[in-house]
Amino acid sequence: MADSILIIGAGVAGINCALNAAKYGAHVYLVDDTASIGGMMARLDKTFPTNDCSICIEAPQMYEVDNHPNIEILTNTEVRKVNKADGGFKVRLVRKARFVDEEKCTGCGACMEACPVTVPHEMDGKIGGTR
Ligand code: SF4
Repeated sequence: MADSILIIGAGVAGINCALNAAKYGAHVYLVDDTASIGGMMARLDKTFPTNDCSICIEAPQMYEVDNHPNIEILTNTEVRKVNKADGGFKVRLVRKARFVDEEKCTGCGACMEACPVTVPHEMDGKIGGTR
């Protein structure tokens, strides 16, 4: 789409870039290769040096970016190729299968309770957590 912006990485920096660009009328594609927006800050308990609650700061921004009409969030999505084209860029994205209909999922958690498989939790920073 012409006059649109692609932001790679939906952590706190990407989220704030997306909100600022969208505020000025740009159509924003916010891409992240993980299953959720929020990045590293969403995984932390507190921020340094103020000891503020991380998610208390980031959650309102995550909500705002998710509901902004000028921002399209593409999670589970990798940037495969970027080429210059017609004064802009042409980008090839690969969206990984989620195996869940995002429109219908209510987040009830019943599938997690029923699932017989345990794997390392990607969001746990490799400190031993499983899901
Ligand atoms: S069982 Fe619940 S959390 Fe799992 S996919 Fe269905 S609605 Fe979503």
